[in-house]
Amino acid sequence: YRAKQGNHAHLFYSHEMNRRSLERLKLETDLRFALERHEFELFYQPQLNLASGHIVGAEALLRWKHPVKGYVSPADFIPFAEETGLIVPIGAWVVEEALRQLRAWDEAGLYIQRLAINVSGLQFRPLFAETVTQLLAQHGIPPGRLEIEMTETVLMRNNERLEAMLSTLREAGCSFALDDFGTGYSNLAYLQQFSIDYLKIDRSFIRNVPGTRRDEAIVRSIIDIADNLGLGVIAEGVETAEQADFLRGLGCQLAQGFHFHPPLPEMQFTSLLAVKNPL
Ligand code: C2E
Ligand code: MG
Ligand code: MG
Ligand code: MG
Repeated sequence: YRAKQGNHAHLFYSHEMNRRSLERLKLETDLRFALERHEFELFYQPQLNLASGHIVGAEALLRWKHPVKGYVSPADFIPFAEETGLIVPIGAWVVEEALRQLRAWDEAGLYIQRLAINVSGLQFRPLFAETVTQLLAQHGIPPGRLEIEMTETVLMRNNERLEAMLSTLREAGCSFALDDFGTGYSNLAYLQQFSIDYLKIDRSFIRNVPGTRRDEAIVRSIIDIADNLGLGVIAEGVETAEQADFLRGLGCQLAQGFHFHPPLPEMQFTSLLAVKNPL
């Protein structure tokens, strides 16, 4: 009897696993058609100057509007997009859409200084820099207004091709931010090697400040590193007024997070700019 029960549990378990892997397979197949079906959207999360409260930039965050499942988080499809190489055309779409949008805001008299996009390691193929510089020229956007966010892990996979590409983008005038700073490697040598404009303090360090001494020390240290190297610093995942006050007190310049605004769909972000940032 016991064995039989065990069997049932096993059957149930494998049925559940089967259902999940089928679901995943379905999602992966759907992703292949998402671009041509126009299912991607960018959301925009404002970045604020902590001292003035002004919106000085935004981070574009990719959303996949699945016809059945609704919005799917990039955390759930970017890894697959990377495995399959789909990240390359998707990434090109992100650049194109972000620049088109920046141009549209300019033309509507709504000013946003910088727009950041996220770029993952596998996107840094030879053609990427070319795509970016061409699109910048095509949309008439000064390259310094486009910021490229990448993680420490990308820079650690240091190779000559990557270095060449980053310097092409750098020479073109794009700026760079290190995303999720502090979660990658403790080796800071790459900060000497690549020129970076901003460090983004990962939200895991913000979550328990003020109040947790160790996390407070980490946040303070990151702000110090940025100051000492002449880099800007952006706190991510600021969810409370206490966190904002704490960061302001430490001289952190920029912040983003639910306390200010969540990532907003294009229309809502545009309305916000109309109120806050008319030219
Ligand atoms: P990330 O670049 O570190 O983006 C920050 C994430 O934190 C976003 O999640 C954002 O919605 C979320 N967030 C913002 N404020 C708060 C807050 O106050 N509290 C909390 N708990 N979360 C907050 P999202 O949009 O789901 O993106 C997840 C990751 O997916 C991003 O992390 C980025 O690495 C990647 N990603 C997003 N868009 C793109 C893209 O266009 N291309 C590539 N390659 N990766 C992307
Ligand atoms: Mg980011
Ligand atoms: Mg981040
Ligand atoms: Mg992240």
